[in-house]
Amino acid sequence: MTIQQVTLLGATGSIGASTLDVIRRNPNHFNVFAVSGHHNLDKMVKICAEFKPNYAVMADLKTANILRNRLDNQSTTVVLHGIDGLEKISSDERVDTVMAAIVGAAGLLPTMAAIRADKRILLANKEALVMTGQLFINTLRQSKASLLPVDSEHNAIFQALPLAAQQRIGYCPLEELGISHLLLTGSGGPFLKSPLGQLVHVTPQQACKHPNWSMGKKISVDSATMMNKGLEYIEARWLFDAKESQIEVVIHPQSVIHSMVQYIDGSVIAQMGNPDMRTPIAYALSYPERITSGVKPVSFSELSNFSFEKPDFQRFPCLKLAIDACYEGQGATTSLNAANEIAVAAFLDHQIKFTDIAIINELVLSSLAANVADCLDSILEIDLKARALAHNHIKRLHNIKRSH
Ligand code: NAD
Ligand code: MG
Repeated sequence: MTIQQVTLLGATGSIGASTLDVIRRNPNHFNVFAVSGHHNLDKMVKICAEFKPNYAVMADLKTANILRNRLDNQSTTVVLHGIDGLEKISSDERVDTVMAAIVGAAGLLPTMAAIRADKRILLANKEALVMTGQLFINTLRQSKASLLPVDSEHNAIFQALPLAAQQRIGYCPLEELGISHLLLTGSGGPFLKSPLGQLVHVTPQQACKHPNWSMGKKISVDSATMMNKGLEYIEARWLFDAKESQIEVVIHPQSVIHSMVQYIDGSVIAQMGNPDMRTPIAYALSYPERITSGVKPVSFSELSNFSFEKPDFQRFPCLKLAIDACYEGQGATTSLNAANEIAVAAFLDHQIKFTDIAIINELVLSSLAANVADCLDSILEIDLKARALAHNHIKRLHNIKRSH
């Protein structure tokens, strides 16, 4: 393996930390060429001191200046800012691999820049694919870029697929390859067994306490509402060109099976492991080879229970909204993704209740789902409209609460 030059978008996040840890264990295979960190100065100072990247990108000029002042005098790291900085480090000709690990729609433009620059893209930022769907896949197909899924479920499916499918991400001929179903597993999150009536009282702290995975706040809340599985359903549809009849969501509370592929002869191939993102990250970084990741091997003798159940849409209305939106068209998935980002942020900020997230999402979806979203401009316009509408609904909920 020659040394891969890696740009890490979202280096200060949870996926960012796991990626840096895998790279730290494999210094002969990877070099951190560039990192982005938005507003997180303390972490960026540490990352720059340890990995000495050529570039570090911050949210704006002010934060970039502060970072520059805080870096060691000897540091050769060039500090950039804003979307131009992100696009520069995603497309620099010296870069081989771009880990797309910014959370939410903010990751879209730099990820698109990496595709257009023919990079090897490791995709953690599922929202970028959900909000653009066919456009994302078309851009990928028109480029020489390759894409490896980092989301543990999609990484598991990728691992369980034949080579002919792995080489055709975005246009896998599932039927032709004898594949009958993609079985997308999900833990069900922290409230799988909570009494339904208690969900209205759930606090951000409780929602962020996932039983198996340690993740950023937004995806933790998405896991608690199962919107995360909904976004992953849409992600799977695009990555593997799957039809409605070919994807099934299965609840597996132990999170040891990360997803499965069912073949027409009755075989089911599952990828298993401890719930630690360093496994799919290491796989995506080193594919088709394998490297160490620091993840503890599964001890099967210690696994006391292995169970499966169907998702309950009454408990998880966001999952149903996302599955339905997936077949309504791009306007639906773009507006749902945007509404959900605003609703989750408002919930984390104690402005709305946990159960309001699904209400806001549904209201925005019902107004905007029919919009046509067939190019980047129309997608970004719907994204903005959905955010504004979600904010209005949140304000209205506030006023109702105040008047009671
Ligand atoms: P996180 O909140 O821990 O980190 C997010 C990163 O994005 C940070 O580096 C932050 O500085 C940066 N960021 C935030 N807003 C930004 C903006 N507006 N512009 C530029 N940068 C911005 O999130 P995470 O848990 O690491 O998740 C990152 C992505 O990976 C998400 O799309 C998530 O769905 C996906 N993912 C995460 C996990 C996980 O285990 N954490 C698993 C699968 C997929
Ligand atoms: Mg996942």
